[in-house]
Amino acid sequence: MSRAYNFSAGPAVLPLEVLQDAQKDLVDYKGCGMSVMEMSHRGKDYDAIHQEAIATFKELCGLGDDWAVCFIQGGASMQFAMIPMNFLPKGGAADYAKQGTWSNKALKEGQKVAALRGATVNVSCDCAKDIPTRMPKADEWQWADGSAYYHLCSNETIAGAELKEFPKVAGPLICDMSSDILSCERDYNKFDMFYAGAQKNLGPSGMAVVAIKKELAAKGDDKIPTMLQYRTYVDENSLFNTPPTWGIYIFGETMKWVKKMGKENLFKLNAEKAKKIYDVIDGSEFWTGTALPEFRSNMNVTWRIKGGDEELEKKFLDESKKLGMSSLKGHRSVGGLRASIYNAFPMEGVDALVSFMKDFEKKNG
Ligand SMILES: *Cc1c(COP(=O)(O)O)cnc(C)c1O
Repeated sequence: MSRAYNFSAGPAVLPLEVLQDAQKDLVDYKGCGMSVMEMSHRGKDYDAIHQEAIATFKELCGLGDDWAVCFIQGGASMQFAMIPMNFLPKGGAADYAKQGTWSNKALKEGQKVAALRGATVNVSCDCAKDIPTRMPKADEWQWADGSAYYHLCSNETIAGAELKEFPKVAGPLICDMSSDILSCERDYNKFDMFYAGAQKNLGPSGMAVVAIKKELAAKGDDKIPTMLQYRTYVDENSLFNTPPTWGIYIFGETMKWVKKMGKENLFKLNAEKAKKIYDVIDGSEFWTGTALPEFRSNMNVTWRIKGGDEELEKKFLDESKKLGMSSLKGHRSVGGLRASIYNAFPMEGVDALVSFMKDFEKKNG
């Protein structure tokens, strides 16, 4: 068996153990005589998978009974649309942070719904285009009073910038955590809703995992289509229609793996993995980190060669591929290099990258 060191930003590397267990159970899940993919979403075997996945995730995030966890198709991008549809009232207001590509996309969806409903959108910060890429500083936020909700993104995956401290706001705080959920110590109870496209740190693509306070879900607009209302997912435990059962199963297995690894241990490893790469970047003028050091992401490390030498970067990518390292190319919108090193990314892969970087610099510096 030959596994690549997969630095993809998403869909991304999954724990090998989870894949192997799924393979073992693929055709006959624990003696049920069928695959998880083939069983009824109303049967008791699937129900146990569904409930356990939710329970393990809630335990890992420290969420109590006032929270619901929903599986919603359409990825994180669907959440960008559902949030204003549910919570932005006619003539009301919402706050959006503009920190990079993803939060900007969320803002745009908010503006669309605002235009339909005669509502306003306040932009609470704008550092989406800054280079070095970064997050807003604590004194930079311009939250408006009285907004229906406040939206931000904890980790801008393309920029490689992560918010280390979350602001206090005067209303529901909603956070896109697609690329850094369960990757570091975080008080999830500070939020009223947080969500993540599953394909980065949680499981396979095909759905978003949405944690929402039941109280907030109950306040959503009840005139919009049923499938777009959060209350539908909360009231029906994400079983109003057929959910993405296979994705939920792998998500649940991945959460069990996180629990088995131990959160503290995993978070420590994540910091160590990132530091190893940043240390090489900082060790020489040959490399330039893309993000401001105080906002560097531990999940998506972004950098350039000689401040943006595209020819050398291409050479770097070509050679890395030959060594079994995949997807080190920066996002198509920004170029450069990016190593996405989510929870399941192994330390050996980071060591391989670091040693290749040192070698590459020696030959090309
Ligand atoms: C990947 C990503 C998204 C988009 O996720 P989809 O599931 O593809 O819609 C949104 N926000 C962030 C921060 C991301 O990293």
